Amino acid sequence: MRTRTRSQERLLTTLKILNRAISAQDLYIELRSREQSMGLATVYRSLEALKLEGMVQVRTLPNGEALYSLVQEDRHHLTCVQCGSSIAIDECPVHNLEEQLHKSYEFKIYYHMLEFFGLCTRCQTENNPRSESGQGS
Ligand SMILES: [Zn+2]
Ligand SMILES: [Zn+2]
Repeated sequence: MRTRTRSQERLLTTLKILNRAISAQDLYIELRSREQSMGLATVYRSLEALKLEGMVQVRTLPNGEALYSLVQEDRHHLTCVQCGSSIAIDECPVHNLEEQLHKSYEFKIYYHMLEFFGLCTRCQTENNPRSESGQGS
């Protein structure tokens, strides 16, 4: 059993309280506002260690920003490539597949990623105000 550092414990607690995916930078600010301040390098190092332990997962947005959250959150998103908004979807279509893969490949699965990209309703309207009107030129 690996022992966790105090910084790692703090990060886990904070991620649990926040209950959402957050960037390392925002997490750093969040910790400081909760008087749990630690250096940004420590935040990155601790997140990396927790990731290798299977406690924390990383989701990378189209703009390259990495968002960290606790692994037990099996949630997927519809992400708009234009405005960057994310809609959480409730179902997980691959939940059972995980179990099957674990059996077939004897691979210890920590988590999986599944994300859909496209345009949200608002951006579809802005892009093409007269779309699907069916009127020719
Ligand atoms: Zn959008
Ligand atoms: Zn899932």
